[in-house]
Amino acid sequence: MLDIRDLQVRYSGIQALRGVSLTVNDGEVVALIGPNGAGKSTLVNAVSGIVPAASGNILLDRVELTSMKPWDISGLGVLQVPEGRQVFPELTVLENLQLGLTALRGRHSETKLDDVYDLFPILRERSAQFAGSLSGGQQQMLAIGRALMGMPKVLLLDEPSLGLAPVVISQVFAALRTLKSRGMTILLIEQNAHLALELSDRAYILDQGRIVQSGASKELAKDDAVVSHYLGVMADA
Ligand code: ATP
Repeated sequence: MLDIRDLQVRYSGIQALRGVSLTVNDGEVVALIGPNGAGKSTLVNAVSGIVPAASGNILLDRVELTSMKPWDISGLGVLQVPEGRQVFPELTVLENLQLGLTALRGRHSETKLDDVYDLFPILRERSAQFAGSLSGGQQQMLAIGRALMGMPKVLLLDEPSLGLAPVVISQVFAALRTLKSRGMTILLIEQNAHLALELSDRAYILDQGRIVQSGASKELAKDDAVVSHYLGVMADA
């Protein structure tokens, strides 16, 4: 469904992605893991059209996204849950969720508010509260719920566990497992590589702007070199 080919991204003076190729098939959960500064957020931001590609291709169902604007890309159902949640603090929970509907444009929605509330019951309880008054974990749930309102074809999750307590991470990942069981297509960026490999079908390891390894998540989790180079470091981080 998502096909990234030889993607290069540069910020002034810094080459953040050096020819990255990656695919996400329909209904698959794919993890992108790697150390700080590897270029993970750059990759999802390039897919969303937030940062421009210097060269390479990003295709959704063979449609070229590379020169499209973020508004048009989200309209196709490529929906990002950004690092740091980015909810609108001065709007209520319900208003934040309703904003997610703007990504639908002409697409038909089967997602109902109740589906999101059933996935995250705390959001139902807090629907009239300002988003800024929620805990970090509740804001993460809200950010995921907002994306779900737009019926993602591909859900891009940028570090959903960042800064959350272990018990809250478990709740968020339980919801992600539910979405996976329903066949949602997900590209997951995650600093917690153990969690990411547990949830995902396949994974890529990004280091200094290059994919250095990829494969079935179960196999990568058993690979001694991967564990000592990446999982050990990131698990302690
Ligand atoms: P982290 O886990 O720390 O968020 P990451 O793997 O997501 O890391 P990126 O945030 O994509 O990595 O950063 C990749 C490289 O690009 C880093 O060297 C970073 O300093 C640089 N970079 C990221 N955003 C910008 C920007 N807006 N301007 C200049 N350089 C940037």
